[in-house]
Amino acid sequence: MQKLEMLYEGKAKRVYKIDREDAYLVYYKDDATAFNGEKKGVIEGKGAINNRVSNHLMSMLEEKGIPTHLIEEISDRETIVRKVTIVPIEVIVRNIAAGSLSKRLGLPEGTRLKMPVLEYCYKDDTLGDPMVNEYHILAMDLATKEELAKIAEYAFRINGILTEYLKDLNIELIDFKLEFGRTPGGEIILADEISPDTCRFWDSVTGEKLDKDRFRRDLGSVEEAYQEIIKRLMGV
Ligand code: 5GP
Repeated sequence: MQKLEMLYEGKAKRVYKIDREDAYLVYYKDDATAFNGEKKGVIEGKGAINNRVSNHLMSMLEEKGIPTHLIEEISDRETIVRKVTIVPIEVIVRNIAAGSLSKRLGLPEGTRLKMPVLEYCYKDDTLGDPMVNEYHILAMDLATKEELAKIAEYAFRINGILTEYLKDLNIELIDFKLEFGRTPGGEIILADEISPDTCRFWDSVTGEKLDKDRFRRDLGSVEEAYQEIIKRLMGV
């Protein structure tokens, strides 16, 4: 599949037009950023790992009835995905307090929440992705009430599926961020990626962090953590 013009370059991926009306090509980079682009670096081999891990998880979700953008992995770092317009909301699900939730509410990291928490952030780098609620989303016309209901339903189902799957691999799913897209036909489907860049994964025995927090917090062994995740998920 030949890459035509580059449509968009994000922090971790590039999106290309291809010779197919209903699809794009996504290329996964090794570039890593944190704190809204303030911290920049490279995680060697990350692009290839995130591509494969995300596709592995998305195909599992598809099998369980969650519509996703995944069409076909065509190389180590490249995947053909369905064309969508991204709903400009980051959808975050949390099972255990960590990161910004711990900071905001004074809950020590590692505190189990009595039930999963759903949060939304408005995707806008210049504003630093501020948290919004359903009222803001409807008032700003970022999504319709029906779309938001679908998004919330999918987010909780995805949480259940991933939590169960990862538990068997001794990985605790602490929290994660999803993005959804609208197809030209108006269907809401899961887009973007699910990877150690977008999830917090803790070893359920040792508590070791196996995700991008190793980069964000300068914990060392960053590449090793990504490799450990692909090894546990895909045996490679
Ligand atoms: P927090 O709000 O605690 O920083 O992040 C919650 C979860 O969402 C974490 O798993 C984190 O990786 C993910 N997340 C939130 N915002 C972003 C973002 O802008 N980029 C990425 N890659 N992940 C995010």
